[in-house]
Amino acid sequence: MIKDSARAIIIGGGISGKLIAASISPYFDRVEVLEKDAKAKENSVRPGVSQGHHIHALLHAGDQMLEMIFPGFKDDMEKKGSIKIDSLNDFYWFHHGAWKIRSKSEFSTFLQSRPFLEEYIESRINIIKNIAYSYETKVLAYIGSDDKRKVIGVKILQDGERKTLSADLIIDASGAASFSKSWMEKQGQKVYEEKVEIGLCYATRQFQLPDKERDFKIKLTYPNPPFEKIGGALSKVEGGKYIATLIGYINSIKPEEVQSEEGFIKYSKKLPLPDIYQELSAGKSLSETRVFNIPHIVWRRFDRIHMPEGLIIAGDSFCRIDPFFGQGMSIAALQANEIGKNFSKGNRSTSGLQKKLAKIVKPVWSMVICEDFRYSEVKGKKPFGLAIQQWYVKKLFKISATNLSIYKDFVKVMNLTSPITTLFKPSTIKEIFKSK
Ligand SMILES: Cc1cc2nc3c(=O)[nH]c(=O)nc-3n(C[C@H](O)[C@H](O)[C@H](O)COP(=O)(O)OP(=O)(O)OC[C@H]3O[C@@H](n4cnc5c(N)ncnc54)[C@H](O)[C@@H]3O)c2cc1C
Repeated sequence: MIKDSARAIIIGGGISGKLIAASISPYFDRVEVLEKDAKAKENSVRPGVSQGHHIHALLHAGDQMLEMIFPGFKDDMEKKGSIKIDSLNDFYWFHHGAWKIRSKSEFSTFLQSRPFLEEYIESRINIIKNIAYSYETKVLAYIGSDDKRKVIGVKILQDGERKTLSADLIIDASGAASFSKSWMEKQGQKVYEEKVEIGLCYATRQFQLPDKERDFKIKLTYPNPPFEKIGGALSKVEGGKYIATLIGYINSIKPEEVQSEEGFIKYSKKLPLPDIYQELSAGKSLSETRVFNIPHIVWRRFDRIHMPEGLIIAGDSFCRIDPFFGQGMSIAALQANEIGKNFSKGNRSTSGLQKKLAKIVKPVWSMVICEDFRYSEVKGKKPFGLAIQQWYVKKLFKISATNLSIYKDFVKVMNLTSPITTLFKPSTIKEIFKSK
């Protein structure tokens, strides 16, 4: 085994892996990011992150964390061609049967494709001297200490050879396909999974739309549950292109129906409103249809087991959330920040850290499953008090179509910059009970 002083290994070089590497780099002599894929061509999607073909909104929490981790991020993104938006004025959102109120605001973020964002992040970590990013390096398993209390290394496959690497810290950021649960179970620790079957399908194409003044930069049509199951999004991204995404819950999109350009555009006619269809019919498709299925969302409760020292599970390896709420990358950024904080001030222990990451996931998971369970076909363990929560937030959604102050609070919670309690101010509760 190779032994360096204070060496951290990160499994997976996606959004989580890269952000965690940057966050912990001040506290470790060497941080190694091991990525199984080969390096992709500029701005293209790697097989390990094939969700990167689809719309990837960056919420305010993600945007703020990225600026904190990489000072100058916002200026750089704007210069490079990301689309800066006023999140209330440039974002058209049809939600639970009503358009959200629009107004000039203090909220902003950027629109870009996922590979464009990841390429920028990679360029920033490449200049951090103690981070080494290795492509074509697959991690196969952990190496535990004899007493099973610690994880002390990993087994890898690199250049066709099996090797072992020792480390003081190992972070699993390998996404939804992570082997951590099965490895842990082989060590005799059952990892409980909260699983909600949503049968969600994404279908995406890139479009060139006719050059004209538009009063939006991103448009989102949510299906109004339980009756509507199909939603859509149209987002301007770098290079003047648009990403058009159709989504369907409960297996309502049949991939073969949206495969051709004609089929895709025709399908967009089924959206609750005709405006995305009208835009696409006048446009020219620039790509084939990409399909991504999310049969279920899952939260693997590593926070409820006795985690071995030296191991942390982050990002989608820990929890894959319903992506149509656009929160995954921001959760990854918040977790990266939490992990970084844990190792500041000379601490080297991972004790209690998984529970801190769970605290980031919990309110988001609760918000998301509240919405997903509006479909009676969705299967999973329903939380206590769900019906009341659904009643309350449905009213709040409706009010936020006309009440700017309540909408702003909702935007802050949705964007993970304010706690969920923000939605329970006495004045808001009063409005909820007053509304029909
Ligand atoms: C269709 C879709 C749309 C989405 N839209 C949004 C959105 O609008 N906004 C948003 O914030 N989030 C969105 N998300 C969620 C977002 O993609 C994820 O939350 C985010 O990518 C999680 O990052 P990650 O680094 O944990 O995992 P990933 O991005 O999946 O990265 C995991 C990495 O690990 C590598 N890897 C896997 N196994 C190994 C191994 N054994 N050894 C070495 N490397 C390995 C993979 O190749 C990959 O590079 C969406 C997700 C989907 C599926």
